[in-house]
Amino acid sequence: MSKNRKRRRGIPFVPNTLKLLLLVFLVFGAIVIFRHGYIPARYSPFATVSLSDPGGIFLDWQIAQLANDKHTCRRVLRKPHIVASPAPDHGQFPGCGRYNAFRVLQAGGTSMKPPRVMECPLAAALALWLQHAVQPAADEHFGINVTSVRNVGVYNCRNIRSGLGKIFAIRSEHGRSNAIDIASFRLANGRTISVLRDWSKRNETEGKFLRAIHAAACNYFRVTLGPEANEAHRDHFHLDRGPLRSCR
Ligand SMILES: [Zn+2]
Repeated sequence: MSKNRKRRRGIPFVPNTLKLLLLVFLVFGAIVIFRHGYIPARYSPFATVSLSDPGGIFLDWQIAQLANDKHTCRRVLRKPHIVASPAPDHGQFPGCGRYNAFRVLQAGGTSMKPPRVMECPLAAALALWLQHAVQPAADEHFGINVTSVRNVGVYNCRNIRSGLGKIFAIRSEHGRSNAIDIASFRLANGRTISVLRDWSKRNETEGKFLRAIHAAACNYFRVTLGPEANEAHRDHFHLDRGPLRSCR
């Protein structure tokens, strides 16, 4: 009798450990599912992102859940926050192409120079950043709006320039039309604020503006790289909605 009782006392630790492992597995699995947007926005327990709202703590997941929901993207990517039209899906080389993409002409009250085709979550993040971070920063630092944004590319089927060679090659988010490179911002008075020319002016209005919007971009994009990331980004901001996280 006493032997059995002893055994029973020792056993409960095993089920509890298993329960804990199961709980960790479920939480981790849920994080992966929502972070990668595997559940389309319209079936997700999280509210659909609204471009009129700067967003809360689940904004990253709300943007991600647009990736596999063409129907919701058409409803979310609307005027006056963005002027965009759906673009056909396009598969190209392995790891490259686009799915659920839109041709963006304007976003956050600015014209895209030139217009670009990009995947839906990137378009949403871009409109949110321009409207809720870039325009308020322009108003604060210059007292006027940004009217256009000059980008130097979205789609480019290539690997990340990691310097680690072909064995460790990883496709750039540019290969999926999921990254945009932005070089300059034109203000309502015709003045241009350039990443290459003005980033180093850290104590002047231009430099403060660029640093403020670079920092704010990290709230909307998963990867934000600027001139201090490396030499390759000395003249533009790289903004993407890929799986990695970096804010440099
Ligand atoms: Zn880039």
